[in-house]
Amino acid sequence: MESKTNIIFRESIPGKSGASVPPCDVPEHALSEFIPNHVLRESPPNLPEVTEPEVVRHFVNLSVKNHHVDRDFYPLGSCTMKYNPKINEKIASLDGFAGIHPLQSVETVQGALRVMWELEQMLLKITGMSAATLQPSAGSQGEFVGILIMKKYHDERNDSRKYIFIPETAHGTNPASVILAGYQIKKIKSDSRGRVDLAHLKQNLDQHTAGMMLTQPNTLGLFEDQILDITSLVHEAGGLMYMDGANLNALVGITKPADMGFDITHINLHKTFSTPHGGGGPGAGPIAVTEQLAKYLPIPVVVKKRDESFDWDYDRSASVGRVHSYFGNFSILVRAWAYILSMGEQGLKEMTKNAILNANYLKYLLKDTYHIPFSEGTMHEFVISAVDQKKRGIRALDIAKSLLDNGYHAPTVYFPINLPEAIMVEPTESETKNTLDEFAQSMIDIDSLIDTDPESLTQAPITTPVRRLDETKANREPDIRWKFQKTDNLKEVN
Ligand SMILES: *Cc1c(COP(=O)(O)O)cnc(C)c1O
Repeated sequence: MESKTNIIFRESIPGKSGASVPPCDVPEHALSEFIPNHVLRESPPNLPEVTEPEVVRHFVNLSVKNHHVDRDFYPLGSCTMKYNPKINEKIASLDGFAGIHPLQSVETVQGALRVMWELEQMLLKITGMSAATLQPSAGSQGEFVGILIMKKYHDERNDSRKYIFIPETAHGTNPASVILAGYQIKKIKSDSRGRVDLAHLKQNLDQHTAGMMLTQPNTLGLFEDQILDITSLVHEAGGLMYMDGANLNALVGITKPADMGFDITHINLHKTFSTPHGGGGPGAGPIAVTEQLAKYLPIPVVVKKRDESFDWDYDRSASVGRVHSYFGNFSILVRAWAYILSMGEQGLKEMTKNAILNANYLKYLLKDTYHIPFSEGTMHEFVISAVDQKKRGIRALDIAKSLLDNGYHAPTVYFPINLPEAIMVEPTESETKNTLDEFAQSMIDIDSLIDTDPESLTQAPITTPVRRLDETKANREPDIRWKFQKTDNLKEVN
C-alpha cells in the first residue's frame, strides 16, 4: 500500500494555503540594505502547498510510523528507554524557559541560571563529585571532554602518557573519544565472570598509562565488584579513572562514582534522567569531576555569587575551553531538573531498585528458554546469547525483527561484541509486571516458532511500515532529506 504521507502531499495545488500571514511590513529597500544580494532567493522555495488539516495529518502519520516509548515497551539495552513523564515536557515548554535567548543579559535570565546551577548541585550529590559542566550534548561528547581533561592534567605535570585502557565490553564511543583526544587504546580482557580481568590490567599498567575508561555497571549489566582494586591500581600507576556513566540508572541513590574512586564521569540526562531520546537527539551528557580536576572544566561555569544571584564565570585559565555553543542543550537540562525534583531523593532510589528488580525478573522468566551466559549479579540489564536459537536456524536479528511484529521495540542486538548473537535487554523501572510477563511470553513464543514456523521469523517484520532494510546501505548512503517532487497532478494544474 502506498504511504498515506505521500498521498497527502499529492494534494499540493499552487495557491492552496493553510495559513494567513499579514503582508510584509519591511520596505523593499530595507531588504536590499540589510540582506546581502547573494543570499536572497531567486525563486520561491519548492514547497508543497497544502491546507492545515493536510499538514497535521502528514505529521501525525509520520509520528506513528516509528516505535516510541509512548506506544509500547522499548527494552533497548544500554539506552535506558524509560518513560518520560509529561510534566517534564510541560515545564520545559513554559514561556520563561522556552522563550528566552542565550544572548540575553544575565539579569534577565536569573531563573534559567538557577536551574542550571541547581541541576549541577543535584548531579554532584548523585555522583559524589566536586564540580560539573552541563555543556556536552551527549554522553559521547562528555567522554571526549573528560579525556581532554585527563590530557590537560597530565600535560600540566609535563607527564606525556600514551595509553588509555578500555575493557573489551566497552561501548564504541569509548575508543572513539580516546582516539579523538589524541591517546592510544589498550584493550583489557574480561574474566570468566564478565568483569575486568585484574591480572591482565596489572600486566599492562606502567608509566605510559594515562588512565582507564570503565562502564559501571558494565555493558553486560554486571557490577564491576573489584572496582576499588581497579581504581587504586590505576591511581598508583599515575593514571586517572573515567566512569562511563551511561548505566547510572543502576546506581543512583545506592552508590556514587566518587566513592568508587573515579575521577571523572559523564551522566546521560537523556537516559537516566528521563529526557526523550532515540531520534538522534538533542541530548545532554554533563560531566562531573573531582576537586583537583575542576579547574579544567569547560568555560563558562555558572556561579552563585555572594548576594545569591547567578552569573557566568569565563575567567579560568586552565579550562579546556568551550565545547558547545552557548550553554548546552538548555531545554533538556530543564527536563532533567524537573524529573529529579519530582522524584525526590527517595523516589530516585526507588527508581534504581525497580530498574534492577525488573531486569532480574525478566531474566528469570527467560533463562530456561535463552542462554544468558553472565547472569550472576545482574543489575539493570542482561545479555542473552542466542546461540541455541542460531543452531536451530534463527539468528538474533530474526528474533529482534519478530518482536517488532509483536508490537515491541527490539532490544539491542550484536552488542556487546564479545558475545555471539547478543540480545541486550533493559526493561527499565517504568514497566509493569504485566508488560514484562507479556514480553517474556512473546520471546518464548518466538523460540517455539523456530520449530513450527521458522519462515514467519525469517520474513519478519510484516506489520511495520517498512520491512527488512538494507542496513549497511542505509548507513553508508543515508537519504534523510525529504524532497518535494512535482507530480503529474501538479503539472496539469500548472
Ligand atoms: C549511550 C551510551 C554511550 C554514549 O552516549 P550518547 O549520549 O549516545 O553519546 C556511552 N556508553 C554507553 C555504555 C552507552 O550506553
